[in-house]
Amino acid sequence: MTTQATIGEALQWAFVQLQNVSDSANIDAETLMQYCLGKPRSYLYAWPERALTQEQWKHFEQMVQRRAQGRPVAHIVGEREFWSLPFMVNDSTLIPRPDTEILVETALNLTLPDNARVLDLGTGTGAIALALASERPQWRITALDKVEDAVALAMANRENLGLSRVEILQSDWFSAVKDRDFDLIVSNPPYIDEQDEHLSQGDVRFEPISALTAADEGFADLFHIAANARDFLRPGGFLLLEHGYAQALALRERLTELGYDKVATVRDFGSNDRCTLG
Ligand code: GLN
Repeated sequence: MTTQATIGEALQWAFVQLQNVSDSANIDAETLMQYCLGKPRSYLYAWPERALTQEQWKHFEQMVQRRAQGRPVAHIVGEREFWSLPFMVNDSTLIPRPDTEILVETALNLTLPDNARVLDLGTGTGAIALALASERPQWRITALDKVEDAVALAMANRENLGLSRVEILQSDWFSAVKDRDFDLIVSNPPYIDEQDEHLSQGDVRFEPISALTAADEGFADLFHIAANARDFLRPGGFLLLEHGYAQALALRERLTELGYDKVATVRDFGSNDRCTLG
């Protein structure tokens, strides 16, 4: 491609490079171009004839090449939007998923005290805790992760979003939690079966395995959290867990056995069972 490629030509070139590696080749190319130009998506549609500078083209070409090698777009641009907020990402945590917005929405719809005490276990980028904090200034939110780099990333996102009131600590699930008066405990723990063949395909190859998989067909952490959360909830408090679409029934049964009531599952945008509440 010549150095005088237009936006439209460069996007077309990128689509050809990416169509066999990504099922979202067009969107990926547009996202990389947006980032390269520092412009909104609408700009790309408004000015397809505009020529890229040599520097812009080189930058775009390098980003597309990394994507063609499989790297997630979020890692290349260093950012992913979640709950309409920009989150910095790196390879120390899971990249926030749109489906997890269902968990945030479900939490916001609960009837909780104005100054509810909320705990987010395995916060990663901080996506859930910080999204909740952005909506509920009076909630007192604590977010934990056992991975030091994840804690640092969540703290960086907290600063970037101006949500300094959220407490972020290093903790292996409940190990560093002292309070026992939470109104709500949320978590998107690792829940994929260690044998799942999808782990060798696509973007998940570049995410930490410790954030994705759990023993016992993916149930180990879900069950561990469910069994322990009751000791940290005030009477009438809620536990809200994200899980795989095929895990809902077993998780509801386990929550009921553990003495939770009002156990219910919520579906995601793809109509898959995604979160269970008790
Ligand atoms: N839902 C994610 C996926 O399928 C996994 C999230 C998780 O393990 N918590 O890639």
